Amino acid sequence: MEKSRSKFPKVVVIGGGFGGIELAKHLKDKPLDVLMLDKHNYHTFQPLLYQVATGGLEADSIAFPLRKIFDGQKNFRFRIAEVTKIHPIKQTIDTTIGEIPYDYLVIATGSTTNFFGNKRVEHFSMPMKSIPEALNLRSMILQNLEEALLQPSRELREPYLNFVIVGGGPTGVELSGAIAELRNHILHKDYPELNKDEMQVYLVEGLPKVLQVMSPQASAKAEEFLKDMGVKVLTNVNVKDYDGKQITLANGKTISTHNVIWSAGVQGQVIEGVPKDSIIRGNRIQTDEFNRVKGTENIYTIGDVAAVITGETPKGHPGVAPVAIQQGKQLAKNLVRLVNNEPMQPFKYFDKGSMATVGRNKAVVDLHKFRFQGFFAWLTWMFVHLISLISFRNKVVVFINWIGSYFSYNGGARLIIRKFIREEIVNDEHLPKAED
Ligand SMILES: Cc1cc2nc3c(=O)[nH]c(=O)nc-3n(C[C@H](O)[C@H](O)[C@H](O)COP(=O)(O)OP(=O)(O)OC[C@H]3O[C@@H](n4cnc5c(N)ncnc54)[C@H](O)[C@@H]3O)c2cc1C
Repeated sequence: MEKSRSKFPKVVVIGGGFGGIELAKHLKDKPLDVLMLDKHNYHTFQPLLYQVATGGLEADSIAFPLRKIFDGQKNFRFRIAEVTKIHPIKQTIDTTIGEIPYDYLVIATGSTTNFFGNKRVEHFSMPMKSIPEALNLRSMILQNLEEALLQPSRELREPYLNFVIVGGGPTGVELSGAIAELRNHILHKDYPELNKDEMQVYLVEGLPKVLQVMSPQASAKAEEFLKDMGVKVLTNVNVKDYDGKQITLANGKTISTHNVIWSAGVQGQVIEGVPKDSIIRGNRIQTDEFNRVKGTENIYTIGDVAAVITGETPKGHPGVAPVAIQQGKQLAKNLVRLVNNEPMQPFKYFDKGSMATVGRNKAVVDLHKFRFQGFFAWLTWMFVHLISLISFRNKVVVFINWIGSYFSYNGGARLIIRKFIREEIVNDEHLPKAED
């Protein structure tokens, strides 16, 4: 069992994402002993995952070792461990490195891809929520371009060269823009034998417009940018089925493709043992205004997995990094207040606005008073993402990569480090067919 070395109450933080690291940083030099657990020993800057997936950036430019973030923080320890169960009455958790006791528990486990129960789509399509998934996606894209080279006819090349991105939120828009840029600027250099017109990029969205969460101007401009870049934007249509070779849409349209990328939904990563009646829509954990899990005394949750339900926020907050960061900071202050026997203060979200990039010189930005699109929005997007990266090294590496790509139109090494091989289905009885 992981022992506490301190006389102070022990806070166990599950997850070193945006929320977890902000919380732990703000507990520096406070009368609390912090133990962070994460499946990985690094923090992932998810907003730039799509650039890793499309070969623009290497994985280590958007990841940062968790231990280094807390260099010199004496009340902080980190262990690589997956938490498998919470025992609220015993005040312990089960992990892959054994049982760990806590005085305060903070669940900051983020979210995972939601396939809405469609097992076939889950098996055959590619999600993009983590660095291993982004690297799988990069390998799959490059392997399929290599396969296309080997096919003797246009018809046989088609499924390798059709790319379908499902979900027109910021991730889907950014990914389809990046794949379109790969086609427009890179394909003829790396694969001169392939005809650019044979490679198609589709963005499929169930709602009437892309970037539904942003302003009407941002949605309309993003769609216009995508179309200018040659992306086929299909709105108002859901995916019905995908069998690894052909995707079927609810309107009956089919597209022959080996490349389906799923960015159509997320759900909270809830650990077994969290009180069942606190789990609400989207697999999120309901909390009070202090981020305390409903029905518990000393279990808190922040970030994507948390839903702070109050009269003002009946559905909780959006699953974005600033919410996780602000909740982490506020909860750190509240935990210190708690040990000092002072009253806690409720969480209030300060929404600075939102943005998404579509491609070179093309982005959309919605701030409180200002909405703008195009080149200046793109510069703003790049600036905000650069300053938000965790370390100075990563900021410099990403900046140099971006400058290089801007001038050469050919950034990134596009290495297939390890081949992506989809697990064979030995028994596909559990994967429902389209007509089911
Ligand atoms: C592709 C993509 C693009 C995005 N773009 C943007 C953007 O442009 N702007 C924006 O604001 N937001 C963006 N987001 C959303 C943003 O990344 C999330 O809102 C944010 O990461 C949530 O922070 P978090 O701390 O709740 O969880 P995360 O940052 O997801 O961290 C959760 C951590 O918990 C760990 N973990 C999970 N379960 C366990 C377990 N059982 N045991 C141990 N460890 C565990 C994980 O390994 C992970 O490190 C994007 C997300 C994605 C996927």
